[in-house]
Amino acid sequence: MHVKFIGAAGTVTGSKTLVSVEGKSVLVDCGLYQGLKKLRERNWQELPVNVKTLKAVVLTHAHIDHSGFIPALVKQGFRGKVYCTPATYALCRVLLPDAGFLQEEDARYANKGRFSKHSPALPLYTEEDAWTALKHFEVVDFGEAFEPVRGLTAVFSRSGHILGAGSLRLDDGRRSIVFSGDVGRLQDDIMYPPEPLPPCDYLVVESTYGDRLHAQVDTRQVISDLVTRTCERGGVVLIPAFAVGRAQSLLYVLNELKKAGRIPSVPIFLNSPMAITATEIFYRFHKEHRLTPAQCAEIDGGVTFVRTVEESMALNNKRFPCIIISASGMASGGRVLHHLKALLPNHRNSILFAGYQASGTRGEALVHGADKVKIHGEYWPVKAEVVNLESLSAHADYEELLTWMKQTAHPPKKVFITHGEPLAADCLRRHIHERLGWEASVADYLEEAELG
Ligand SMILES: [Zn+2]
Repeated sequence: MHVKFIGAAGTVTGSKTLVSVEGKSVLVDCGLYQGLKKLRERNWQELPVNVKTLKAVVLTHAHIDHSGFIPALVKQGFRGKVYCTPATYALCRVLLPDAGFLQEEDARYANKGRFSKHSPALPLYTEEDAWTALKHFEVVDFGEAFEPVRGLTAVFSRSGHILGAGSLRLDDGRRSIVFSGDVGRLQDDIMYPPEPLPPCDYLVVESTYGDRLHAQVDTRQVISDLVTRTCERGGVVLIPAFAVGRAQSLLYVLNELKKAGRIPSVPIFLNSPMAITATEIFYRFHKEHRLTPAQCAEIDGGVTFVRTVEESMALNNKRFPCIIISASGMASGGRVLHHLKALLPNHRNSILFAGYQASGTRGEALVHGADKVKIHGEYWPVKAEVVNLESLSAHADYEELLTWMKQTAHPPKKVFITHGEPLAADCLRRHIHERLGWEASVADYLEEAELG
C-alpha cells in the first residue's frame, strides 16, 4: 500500500490523500482549498493524480474542504464512484450545487464590478457540473464493508464531527490504515461522540486544534451576555456559521437560552438557503444525533428561514434587534458578506464567530482585531463588536484527539499528521510522541510513503 499526500498538508483545507494498491488508486476526500490565495490557486491546477488509474473517491464527510473538488475532478475526466454515508450524500446534494452556484455568482459579480484580475472571471465549476458529479455517488452505511477497488476493504466508523461524518479504515489484507477524517468533540449537545479509533497499522490524523485546548468557558453564558448587551444597545447579532453543523448547534443553543429567559425574545433568522436545507436534513436523520423529532420541531418553530435574495436584502434594513445566522462560517463567501457590509460599520452590532477561522480568511482577520476588511473589492471599517467563540467548534482539541487515539486496541506503527496549520500539526506530533510514545510525523505536501 502506498500513500501520497496531495492536500490538507500544512493547511486545513483541500483535503486529499491518494492511496494506491497494485497500480490502482483511491482518493480519500477531495476537498477544495479555501483561505490563502496561494492555496486557492491550487484549485485551478491539474491534480497531481493520474485520473485514469484513479478508481474511486471515498469521502469522510460533506464539508466543502473535503468534498468541494469532486465536481472539478469529474470535469478533469474522473469516471469512478464516490463512496460516502447516506447523510453525507444528502448533505453533498445541497453543498456541491451550492458551491457551483456561488462560484458562478462570484464570477458574475467580479465581471460586473470588474474587480477580478482575470477577465472574464470564470467559475471553477458550475451548479450543473456539481449535479453531474453527484451521479457518481454511492452510499454505504457506517460499519458496512465495501471495496472501492478490488482487494481494498473499506469501512466507515462515526467520527462525531457533523451529520454523516466518519473515520475511514482501509485494509488490503496485509496492511491497514485509518483516516480520522475530522474528529468531533467528546461531549457535544447534539452530536454523539466519535467511535474509538479502530485497530490499524497506520493512522492519518487531522490536527486542526493540534496546538490548542478549547477554553473551558461557559459558551451559553458568553452567547447570552453578548446577545443581551447587543439588544440593549439596539444592535443586531450576526453569526457567520458553517451551514452544516454549527448552524444547527447554534439554533439549538439559542432556543434553549430563549426558553430559559436568558436572552431577550428577539427574532432569529437563518439566512442561508443551504443552511436551511441542511437543517431539514438534520431533522430527517434524527437517529444520527441526540435530538428527538419533538426537539427538532421546537427549534424549527423558533426560527425564521430566509430563502429569497429579496428577503435577505430586506434583513439589512431591519431597525430592531435580532439575531442573524448566515453562511459562510469563515466569511469567505455567501450571503454573510452582504450582512457584514451593512453591520460592521456600526458599533451597536456584534459579530459572533463560532468555529475555526483558517489563515487568510476574513473571519481570521476579524477575530484578530482588523480595523477594516475587504469585501467585494472595497474596504469596510470594523466598528461592530467582534467575539470569537472557538469552543463552539465541531473539532476535537488536542486532548480530545489524544483520548480518541489512545482508546485503540492496537496502536499504529506510525501516524501521519495532516489537516492543520504547520504549528498545530507539529504540536500534535510532539504530543503523540511524548504522551502516547507513538512514531508520528507531519505530512508534507506531495510527500509519499510506502506502507510496509
Ligand atoms: Zn469538517
